[in-house]
Amino acid sequence: MSRNLELFERAKKPIPGGVNSPVRAFGSVGGTPRFVKKANGPYFWDADDKRYIDYVGSWGPAIVGHAHPEVIRAVQQAAEGGLSFGAPTEAEVEIAETLCAMLPSLEQVRLVSSGTEATMSAIRLARGFTGRDTIVKFEGCYHGHSDSLLVKAGSGLLTFGAPSSGGVPADFTRHTLVLEYNNVAQLEETFARIGDTIACVIVEPFAGNMNLIRPSEAFVKALRELTHKSGTVLIYDEVMTGFRVGPRCAQGLHGVIPDLTTLGKVIGGGMPLAAFGGRRDIMECIAPLGNVYQAGTLSGNPVAVAAGLTTLRLIREPGFYDTLTARTRRLTDGLAALGRETGVALTADSVGGMFGLYFTGKVPTCYAEVTNSDREGFNRFFHAMLEEGVYFAPSAYEAGFVSIAHTDALIDETLAAARRALSGK
Ligand SMILES: *Cc1c(COP(=O)(O)O)cnc(C)c1O
Repeated sequence: MSRNLELFERAKKPIPGGVNSPVRAFGSVGGTPRFVKKANGPYFWDADDKRYIDYVGSWGPAIVGHAHPEVIRAVQQAAEGGLSFGAPTEAEVEIAETLCAMLPSLEQVRLVSSGTEATMSAIRLARGFTGRDTIVKFEGCYHGHSDSLLVKAGSGLLTFGAPSSGGVPADFTRHTLVLEYNNVAQLEETFARIGDTIACVIVEPFAGNMNLIRPSEAFVKALRELTHKSGTVLIYDEVMTGFRVGPRCAQGLHGVIPDLTTLGKVIGGGMPLAAFGGRRDIMECIAPLGNVYQAGTLSGNPVAVAAGLTTLRLIREPGFYDTLTARTRRLTDGLAALGRETGVALTADSVGGMFGLYFTGKVPTCYAEVTNSDREGFNRFFHAMLEEGVYFAPSAYEAGFVSIAHTDALIDETLAAARRALSGK
């Protein structure tokens, strides 16, 4: 029996489903999750000591590759000075200054420990600032697992959502309106009707939790204009896209200044660190300055901040994003070409170091189109690639991630494996 299987069986006794986050269980693709023994650069090794080229990268954070020596050194140094104090540190000031300097929309920023905390806090803040209750999100976008955001679309146009999880009272989601991604007409109609009652719109500026979906230019423009006109707070949830798609995140690519931004994943470089920030007049509504409460025992943790600061320094090296973007493109152009060559309905797209792989004839633009793809086809491909030593996200509906440690040669190795997988050789 493989050591992965042995560990999975053992894990199922003390841990529900054997995992600490559901997608890790391979429920969507079937088979046995790979238990990671160690990781380095673009690779990780599983419990059987098999090596994989990793295209998940901890779901985004590992942008400079796993166990980058400078990140590890910074973490070790910070750890020697103590793990947590519950009192402010200079490094927190430094990372806040760094984030504000890197992202022009941030006038102030507060650190938290997870993306879920960042989005939950940003929503509370938007409600506190506007004095309104209603929030708008889009179908297929994921913003962490707080109650008011675990909502599926209502059955008709402009109906409020129903909880998409057990344990969430319908009362909690009564104020969450779920609209279709990229549907400008629906957005306009909603704002014409009830714009002045909407506290905030939260959006993934490139959706990455229903595979990768690009927003249309018209959608991006409508979001900023409509929210601005109605005094609604526009929240760019850049927990995934932040410093992943480019040096100024998705908002830099869109040329949009959102009111609030949430960050996570890359800014922690693999440690539990996330943030929310934006307009000073909004941010000053938070305690201790304002009446919107938000706090955290481990917020701004010195070890996490050390990993984050070092990662943020490494991604500012000249040419970083040009290289990362070109390598990711090489992968997605190569995969799309293989789809055409082998006659498999497979296409691919990428933005910066983030990519989508779709078992469908054309690149999807919304949730309904994504879920219309060939899931069985993806699952077969996923397992064939796993056999080849290439680890893609274990679900047809997740984005993938390339790091700066993924060389052109490694991308070409991946494409050669994909050719074998797709042609059944
Ligand atoms: C991952 C993610 C979150 C949640 O972050 P956690 O750190 O997992 O809590 C929120 N929003 C987006 C867009 C994400 O990709």
